[in-house]
Amino acid sequence: RTWGWSLAGELRQAAARDPGRPAVIDEDGVELTYHDLLDRAERMARSMRAGLGVQAGDRIGVLCRNHHGLIETIVAATLLGVDAVLVNTGLSAAQLGTVAEEQRLRLLVHDDEFTERVLGLPAELSRLDERAREELVAGALPGELHPPERDGRIIVLTSGTTGTPKGARRPTPSGFGPLVSIIDRIPLHARNRVMIAAPIFHTWGFAALQVCLALRATIVLHRRFDPAATLAALTAHQCDALFAVPVMVQRLLEVPPPEPRPPLKVVAVSGSALPGGLAPKFMDVYGDVLYNLYGSTEVSWASIAGPQDLRQAPTAAGRPPHGTRLALLDDDGQPVPDGRVGRIFVGNEMLFEGYTSGANRETHDGLLDTGDLGRLNADGLLFVDGRADDMIVSGGENVFPSEVEDLLAQLPQVREAAVIGVPDPEYGQRLSAFLALHPGETLDPEAVREYVRHFLARFSVPRDVIFVKYLPRNATGKVLTRELRRYYG
Ligand code: ATP
Repeated sequence: RTWGWSLAGELRQAAARDPGRPAVIDEDGVELTYHDLLDRAERMARSMRAGLGVQAGDRIGVLCRNHHGLIETIVAATLLGVDAVLVNTGLSAAQLGTVAEEQRLRLLVHDDEFTERVLGLPAELSRLDERAREELVAGALPGELHPPERDGRIIVLTSGTTGTPKGARRPTPSGFGPLVSIIDRIPLHARNRVMIAAPIFHTWGFAALQVCLALRATIVLHRRFDPAATLAALTAHQCDALFAVPVMVQRLLEVPPPEPRPPLKVVAVSGSALPGGLAPKFMDVYGDVLYNLYGSTEVSWASIAGPQDLRQAPTAAGRPPHGTRLALLDDDGQPVPDGRVGRIFVGNEMLFEGYTSGANRETHDGLLDTGDLGRLNADGLLFVDGRADDMIVSGGENVFPSEVEDLLAQLPQVREAAVIGVPDPEYGQRLSAFLALHPGETLDPEAVREYVRHFLARFSVPRDVIFVKYLPRNATGKVLTRELRRYYG
């Protein structure tokens, strides 16, 4: 066996050809070259094998924010042929217990800030905090690592907003197809200095990591997202690319842009919908650098909208990249005409390999059901309306929350908006809008309704308008509608 296109294989190539190139710079003040990164990951792998008896086929959990230790741990796992389960840092202690059991974790590598949350996990599960991880690296015995008999898999957990988090097995790419499909459409290159602000435990952040390692980019990481600190780091490290989720980009606009501006050429966002109006506002300040990728844990990226698309249509999700097929189907599995809403099906070589529970998603002609609804315009641009499950049926009419949210977000007083359907004795469901306003602003609920009535059909007007300080969101910026529903008891 040889080292293939796994993370470990990638890193070996990078360390052999470009040993002195800076690989990771993190907030802890750690700066590692590609040589250092591989060396530390190999040491960790050797110690895990010799000291902890971890071996190919085992599964370890990684509960870490974005820092060098997260990358080392993932690479160490793949060096051993061990599966790494990337655990969402937002999970509760109870959810962690379920995950540890369902995923049959052998070991959990976690940040110190989660020590208390992992206290209640079964005693037989070994836990490594940051000091224990460092000791593994420092105390490794010399030795060779040979390519393992099996590839270590990366298992990404869904965020669990809709129930118990599910483990999704990501495929090991068999070639450069996925990388080419992204650099074909986004001007990324080998000398990029990239900040990955999206959490790496999520598919999007992990995809960003894979792309960066394959390009031998220099990766800048912060544990938590803070808009002012991010802008300062982008300038200090002269980053030309940023991988983020949409709400982060929104937050960047709420703080004054630094002078001089960071030399950004690419700001790529994914993980949730771009709020209406955000793209042009962002590009007016930071230039035509925004890329919107639509995708999910199950399908990886399925379409990409570039700056020109977003100038024309600020909420466009773009076009499928090379190697991806998209189809919009009706309930009978038939393609819908352009402009009509259909269920989005995707086929590419990055489709997940099923949930660890054994379940899978529906497929049609080799294409996977995303669970999302969307439309294609006459130019072939995709627009995502949202999850089919989130569609509101009010008085027999279908309403997409995103359409109303995008409109509400255009009100100058509104900082962010979310719309949900709530049970209604007369209409089946009625619309309820939650609005967080900019500091010092006020709005009259009737003025909000009047504004929506001006642009949209009667059934799209929220009957309830509720003002909140902020919207509850998960780590990738998705609004937790379950928490909003609590307002209704
Ligand atoms: P859960 O399924 O519990 O929400 P999750 O947040 O981990 O977990 P993801 O797989 O990241 O789930 O979510 C993917 C979904 O996010 C897509 O199916 C789509 O609804 C939405 N989404 C992602 N990117 C975009 C985008 N660019 N535009 C619109 N919607 C998007």
